[in-house]
Parts: sequence; structure tokens; C-alpha cells
Amino acid sequence: MNIILLGPPGAGKGTQAKRIEERHGMVQLSTGDMLRAAVKAGTEVGKIADGIMKSGALVPNDVVVSIIADRIDQPDAQRGFILDGFPRNVAQAEALDAMLDKKGLKLDHVIQMEVDDEALVERITGRYTCGNCGAGYHDTFKPTKVEGQCDVCGSHDMVRRADDNETTVRSRLDTYYKETAPLLPYYKERGNLVQLDGMAPMDQVTEEIENVLAAEQRLGG
Ligand code: AMP
Repeated sequence: MNIILLGPPGAGKGTQAKRIEERHGMVQLSTGDMLRAAVKAGTEVGKIADGIMKSGALVPNDVVVSIIADRIDQPDAQRGFILDGFPRNVAQAEALDAMLDKKGLKLDHVIQMEVDDEALVERITGRYTCGNCGAGYHDTFKPTKVEGQCDVCGSHDMVRRADDNETTVRSRLDTYYKETAPLLPYYKERGNLVQLDGMAPMDQVTEEIENVLAAEQRLGG
């Protein structure tokens, strides 16, 4: 099964994608994670992406489309994938359609998570992760038990994303409404859009996503 998680930054796409990945053996394909890895490694793509990501704008379509095209061809993606943060505009959605067509693959669901803007800003500006094991935390909602120390692996390497400050978050939200929100009518027209309340508790959102996936399996998908 192949799905897209759609929603503004901070809606919980990454968290939910990781849960689906664990439960269903599908693979999370996050263009944001791939671009951050490229920035860290100092590759050509990373050099293009770095400043753009800090500004909250979108990295050029040809760059992300080619990253995704390569990634979808990897053996682990054949079990099914969860696209997280891609597509981000209609041109990327069209490129994805063409790519899947060529490979004989289909998109089963586009799941949109809706969240209020102010909640998003609070969620994003307070979040941090363990640089060693990737466990996620939040200043207010989920602080580490011992300050500065990961509950899971004990590491003291806590990291915040360079673009998780309030100015960049507002710019990322702006980009979302201008460029990504037009994907909602795009997928609605194609009949595979499911909308969920991303303000609900995390476990409830997971359950609702599970219901969508289970309905697909009952239909033999
Ligand atoms: P994310 O981790 O999904 O919030 O993405 C972080 C940043 O990476 C975005 O603000 C963009 O600058 C860039 N980015 C991630 N995915 C895409 C994409 N599909 N198209 C263009 N830029 C992207």
C-alpha cells in the first residue's frame, strides 16, 4: 500500500509515519529528512537546499522529484511507502503521478491532518529530538524526565531543527497555504483524499489512520 500524509508543518506527519512504518513494514519517505541529511553531509543537493530550508520556502521541484524517484526504486520501498512532506505543490503531485504510472504503482490514500495555526506554532517551536536515537520531545507537552537527557538512550545530544524558530515557522505555514493546500482539491477530485482531525490526541489520530488502512485491506488493497 502506498499513501501520502498531507498537512501543515507540525501536524504530526512524521510521528504518524513512524508509527505506520513500525506496524506495517511500509517505509517512511520524508523529503525533509532526506534534505536535512544532504545538508549535514554537505552534498551538492545540501548546498542548494540549506538556505532555502532556513527561509521556509520550497526547494526546487526537480531536486525533490529526483530524490523521491530514486528512493521509490529502492528494494525496501517495494513493500509500500508513506510519503511525508512530498508532494508539496501541484507540479510535484503531477510528477509523482507520472512516476507511479511508469512504475505500475498506485496511490491508495492521501490522508490529510488538519491542525489550527496557533497550535502548530506552539508545537513546532517547542520540539526537539535526541540526536543519537531520534526520540522526539517537546518543551511543554513532553519534556525529558531528566533535563537534557534522553529518556530512551540516555544521550545528552538534544537537537532542534534550524527551521523550527517562530519566524521560519510562520513562513513555512505561508508556503503551505499558498503552494501545498491546492493539493487538497487535486486529490479530492481523484477520490482518494481522507481528512482527519490532527488536533485529536496522537493515539486517536493513529487509530483513525489504522481504520483507513484496514478498510483498504478488507477491499484487498
Ligand atoms: P519538513 O521536514 O517536511 O518540514 O521540510 C523541511 C523543509 O525542507 C521545507 O520547509 C522545505 O524547505 C524543504 N522541503 C521538504 N520537502 C520538500 C518538498 N517536497 N518540496 C520542496 N521543499 C521541500
